Amino acid sequence: MKEITAIQPQLHPALDNPKLQLAIYTATGRLVDKRKGTVAEESLPDYQELRSQANALKRHAIDHLDYYLELFQRNVEANGGKVIWCRDGKEVVDFLLGLAKQRKSKVLVKSKSMTTEEIHLNEHLEEHGLEPVETDLGEYILQLAHEKPYHIVAPALHMTRYEVADIFEEKLKIEREEVPEKQTQIARGILREKFLEADIGVSGANFLVADSGAVVLVENEGNARLSTTAPKVHVAVAGIEKVIPRAQDLATFLKLLGRSGTGQPLTVYTSFLAGPRREGEIDGPEEFYVVLLDNGRTKVLRDADKRQALFCIRCGACLNICPVYRRIGGHNYPWVYSGPIGAILTPQFEGLDKNPWLPHASSLCGACGEVCPVKIEIPRMLLELRADIEAEKAAKGEDKLEKLGFQAWARLMSNPMLYRAASAAGSWVLQDAGDGGWASQLPFFLNAGPTKGWLSQRDLPLPAPKSFRQLWKDRLRQPPSSVPVRQQDATDEGHSA
Ligand code: SF4
Repeated sequence: MKEITAIQPQLHPALDNPKLQLAIYTATGRLVDKRKGTVAEESLPDYQELRSQANALKRHAIDHLDYYLELFQRNVEANGGKVIWCRDGKEVVDFLLGLAKQRKSKVLVKSKSMTTEEIHLNEHLEEHGLEPVETDLGEYILQLAHEKPYHIVAPALHMTRYEVADIFEEKLKIEREEVPEKQTQIARGILREKFLEADIGVSGANFLVADSGAVVLVENEGNARLSTTAPKVHVAVAGIEKVIPRAQDLATFLKLLGRSGTGQPLTVYTSFLAGPRREGEIDGPEEFYVVLLDNGRTKVLRDADKRQALFCIRCGACLNICPVYRRIGGHNYPWVYSGPIGAILTPQFEGLDKNPWLPHASSLCGACGEVCPVKIEIPRMLLELRADIEAEKAAKGEDKLEKLGFQAWARLMSNPMLYRAASAAGSWVLQDAGDGGWASQLPFFLNAGPTKGWLSQRDLPLPAPKSFRQLWKDRLRQPPSSVPVRQQDATDEGHSA
């Protein structure tokens, strides 16, 4: 089973690609503007109260997860469905393989689900000869392109219609089509056949309602509704943190989710799925399963404070507003969860040592915390994770060089004479390097030494010809430009007796 890998983000290909930068900036900017409109005072006067209520509900559900999950299970079973508990992705795959074998089915239709992305479900099913088909348009495009989602809500956010045209032409062997509406029609034609062919439909879950045993799904395309009702078997794969206490709590969450994610007061479709088809009903699956996946979540639960990362309702608002995500894009994060929420979730799931740079991938501007509909304190958690990283380094004795550096820096900053001498020397060396003098070899040494990692992602700009202190001194020496004159004096001029 694949795990989260440690990656060194490849920033330059993203930063140096103007088309990609424009695509990310435009798409996230549009989502930011739309969100702003729907949560504004005149549109939703009780927005802040809803956020506090959502936070309190999530905290309560996560603090009493065992109780609500068991209640959910009892109600799913009372509705005629089954709950399958899975520790990790392998157990989910095994369950689905068994189901497919029993049903002699090869094709599975899937609606968008980050939880199944998390466990690389498609790849594992394909390895066993099955054909999972993504039916969300963005996910379908990515499946053809063999790419992972770029964004929690808009998986193909980084692609232009011309790139989609390239993919369709190459993978579907059809004539090139660049009009988005026509591209949608092409995908729809292919996917309709798959809906009819598939015996098993796999979905995620936005919420699991404990008091009714219902799986709630929100979407805009109608594909989730088809994936969960057309095939004979519906399997909802959900992280255990998706449970909420009561159906009435949806009044809070649904008002926030659509607005925060896509700037819609409510998404186009909201489905409440509770059990298989009952007698007398004309549609719905014959079998209904809910897979409750742990996959590291209980590990996160252990920390009573940081477990708030599990409150996330996957709206994507923190990604859209994040200046780092908007520059580096979604594929530079090591796991499916990108942006600020990825920066706090991934280290908690997989350990801080795998990608210690992640909590540092933030300017700490605080925007993510401001927009989060469930009030997760993302900036504070980023700081705490950074502190944890430093504590781990210190415990291993890996911080010696850094400590020495900071000690030297503290000495320099607390001694004005030393500081002036060092900055004059540094300025002279860098100016000389810029003029092509002997110090022009400096970048070579810096790129080979301990500063290599730092400079691989940053520029070393030349200092200004004059320091601030010099500029200030020069300014004090200059005579004042003119003596201020009272307005009245100026108008009186020439009228004196
Ligand atoms: S952390 Fe908050 S803003 Fe970010 S995706 Fe989750 S719910 Fe949305």
